[in-house]
Amino acid sequence: MIEDKNQQRTDLGNLGEFGLIEHLTKNFNINQKSTIRGIGDDAAVLDFKDKQVVLTTDLLVEGVHFDLSYAPLKHLGYKSVMVNLSDVYAMNAKATQITVSIAVSNRFPLEALEELYEGIQTAAKIYGVDVVGGDTTSSSTGLLISITALGEVTKNEVVYRKGAMPNDLLVVSGDLGGAYMGLQVLEREKEVYKVNPTNQPDLSMYTYMIERQLKPEARKDIVKLLKDLDVKPTSLIDISDGLSSEILHICKQSKVGCDLYESKIPLDPQVISACEEFKIDSTTVALNGGEDYELLMTISQKDYPKIKANPNLTVIGFITEESAGKHLVTRADTKIELKAQGWKSFND
Ligand code: ADP
Ligand code: MG
Repeated sequence: MIEDKNQQRTDLGNLGEFGLIEHLTKNFNINQKSTIRGIGDDAAVLDFKDKQVVLTTDLLVEGVHFDLSYAPLKHLGYKSVMVNLSDVYAMNAKATQITVSIAVSNRFPLEALEELYEGIQTAAKIYGVDVVGGDTTSSSTGLLISITALGEVTKNEVVYRKGAMPNDLLVVSGDLGGAYMGLQVLEREKEVYKVNPTNQPDLSMYTYMIERQLKPEARKDIVKLLKDLDVKPTSLIDISDGLSSEILHICKQSKVGCDLYESKIPLDPQVISACEEFKIDSTTVALNGGEDYELLMTISQKDYPKIKANPNLTVIGFITEESAGKHLVTRADTKIELKAQGWKSFND
């Protein structure tokens, strides 16, 4: 479909590696104080003074992590940045720089990479991070994107997965399951398109979910909100794989148990109706769907008054002693062991 979208096709071979790098990165500006030298030398130079530095990296592979038949390259660039920034925010840190490495086959014209970089640049601009380097190489088949993000945090502000204590509240930002249901819609439309390419589907009732899948937002705003509310979570993680898997990470690292209340899991109305349409249990989707890039945290009971009226934060359960186990409390008030793959398989 790349061929359809780009009228003009400039062969990458015409530019050469250095010409390509220069072309793609010429509009990147430096805004962070900690960036001494960005793109253009053998290495970037950064100065974080007395701050601790957080560093995280992700690798996205065509056909495994994304499908270019429905993920526009601009969105893919944006999402690749979000995936990384989300990990920085999950340390309660401020994201400051990224590097972008790509491996690309010659089936991509320059215009496709321009689109990808447009998304990367938009994300960097909105989230205030500097693009300070990367690497560019060829690939014999598909597209690979690896982004590394750096951030800064004071020793007092950093939050790990390991600090949850019994009686702490389990709290999540935003709502869950949207990205997974967006993917279901896109997969279905892809099959329809294969049979009938002229069909113009009306996807207006799915826009929220499709956007959650194709163009997620990392929750920089939640890190700020917590600071403004003067709440330091006792543990923090981002939801990339699904709620249950992330809760289990916190429990394992903190050596605690938990009670998660099914009835408290925040779901968007669009997600609820899509689950009905697709005949999938919405709790299963929230528990196992993944890619929502919300933040999951534990908060001390004493901070409850500060967060209770906030529409961005939902209390979904609480932390227990490790010996009590890890449970989902269902709407019918029965306790089911919380598993990484949820309590029901997707194929039921
Ligand atoms: P080297 O040969 O030392 O690896 P390169 O020619 O690959 O240097 O890179 C030159 C500069 O451009 C470096 O600052 C590098 O970090 C940056 N760079 C290379 N590829 C990319 C890319 N895809 N995105 C952003 N910056 C890049
Ligand atoms: Mg290089």
